[in-house]
Amino acid sequence: MPDKHHVDIVEVGPRDGLQSEPGVLPTATKVAFIERAIAAGVRRVEVTSFVNPKRVPQMADAEAVLAALPRHEGVHYVGLVLNRKGFERAAAAGCNEIGMAVVASDTFNQRNQGVTSDESIAAWLDIARAAKAAGIRPQVTVSAAFGCPFEGEVPVSRVVEIVQRVAEADPFEIALADTIGVGVPSQVIELVGRVREAVPGVALRCHFHNTRNTGIANAFAAVQAGVRTLDASLGGIGGCPFAPAATGNIATEDLVYMLHRSGHPTGIDLAAAIETGKWLQEQLGRPVPSMLVKAGDFVPRAPAQAA
Ligand code: ZN
Repeated sequence: MPDKHHVDIVEVGPRDGLQSEPGVLPTATKVAFIERAIAAGVRRVEVTSFVNPKRVPQMADAEAVLAALPRHEGVHYVGLVLNRKGFERAAAAGCNEIGMAVVASDTFNQRNQGVTSDESIAAWLDIARAAKAAGIRPQVTVSAAFGCPFEGEVPVSRVVEIVQRVAEADPFEIALADTIGVGVPSQVIELVGRVREAVPGVALRCHFHNTRNTGIANAFAAVQAGVRTLDASLGGIGGCPFAPAATGNIATEDLVYMLHRSGHPTGIDLAAAIETGKWLQEQLGRPVPSMLVKAGDFVPRAPAQAA
């Protein structure tokens, strides 16, 4: 029986993290990054997105990344897609899980995806069906569920309505994303509770950004509310080029530290995660936001030997 305290972490650094980098890392470096995450114990990695390379040049090598990745038993390579064309590319490239995003606010959905939220929901229902037929597991994220950079507060009722509509496709999981990092823990508890009431039995995942320093607190609130899958990025890299002032995801190593010491195993080796955060600093040529990369793990000292 699975441990009810276990929390799965989905590593989103290779996509959500790297897409907001001003520079573009070589494909081989991205592949090395993903392999390091897997070696550290991660079992789900959002490896790339299949979107217009003119809009997101950082992800232009999506097919090449998938082609270079070795397949591991039990590891899921998630490709982010925003429309049917992206799904076809992800399926052809060999993703065994696809993630689609629907933004809770229409203005943001238009800016990010060029279509209305309704059109994205229709695309998702079609993609989810096609994915299942192809043996690929589909999940969907409701983005900007905690606030929108253009419309401001997003009513809980709006998020719940979108969740109910995307749930019609019977997804493997639905995620609630604080895309711009405005949420606070009390909001997490309320939203997770309302969504669970609306779609009982559907697995929930949460995605937090640390833009206003509430990311780890929000993650803990989500776990207290019963969520057992969280997104994070090694080094805490990330953001969104289409959301003004959005900064990094919560750092995988910071999250692992908090969860392990709170009695929630993750299957991730903290030392290996910290080493990867340091390695990322070298690849990016600048410090990463992760706190554990700076402070290191807490290693209690053995009591001094009595003389
Ligand atoms: Zn994000």
